Amino acid sequence: MTLTVLLVEDDRELRRTLRGALEVEGYRVLAAASLADATALWSHAEGGVDLVVLDLGLPDGDGQTLLARLRREASTPVLVISARDGDGQKIGLLDAGADDYLVKPFSLGELLARMRVALRRRGTALQPALTRYVRDGLEVDLAARSVGLHGQPVHLTPTEFELLAQLVRRAGQVVTHRALLAEVWGPEFTEHTHYLRLYMGQLRAKLEADPAEPQRLFTEPGVGYRLVEPDPP
Ligand code: CA
Repeated sequence: MTLTVLLVEDDRELRRTLRGALEVEGYRVLAAASLADATALWSHAEGGVDLVVLDLGLPDGDGQTLLARLRREASTPVLVISARDGDGQKIGLLDAGADDYLVKPFSLGELLARMRVALRRRGTALQPALTRYVRDGLEVDLAARSVGLHGQPVHLTPTEFELLAQLVRRAGQVVTHRALLAEVWGPEFTEHTHYLRLYMGQLRAKLEADPAEPQRLFTEPGVGYRLVEPDPP
């Protein structure tokens, strides 16, 4: 099945590069250089759009207005690409329904990896959530509430386990501080980011070969945390 990507980017050089790279990967690409073009392509795309790659700074407006419209109409994953690198902005976009956010310049490999995560996540949205996570010797079974590292059981406290479970359910995606605090501790704790730092430190001490150089549990500064995506099944 060919997946259709709506690519919205006004920089002609970057648009051409991304279009070529995505086509090589087997995607069908609808390319737009403005909000008006993007809206027209979105409305008339035959067979629909499976994923949107959205630049923010466009000649006839801000990509965020298109994000708002897409979210009202569909659950199509949206990856924002932008030169803007404000943490407040990133959090705002994720809360507004963007699936992920890449700051320019980014590598093509990174874009493709994030696209795969977003597509897989949407594709499995109607199936039972991921309950088993395996990556580089780390095994987490949410149903059995068990964690193993290179074949050895790892003991986690209930809070550590709950935090890890939230990241496993969205493996490969950044999960905001606010979302983690609300889900693990409760909605009244969303400002208590020091809890997260403490418990993430404990998780890294148990799960990372070198907690100072994490290879599994990544910090997205000022935004949240990301658990590296699982090994392919
Ligand atoms: Ca732009």
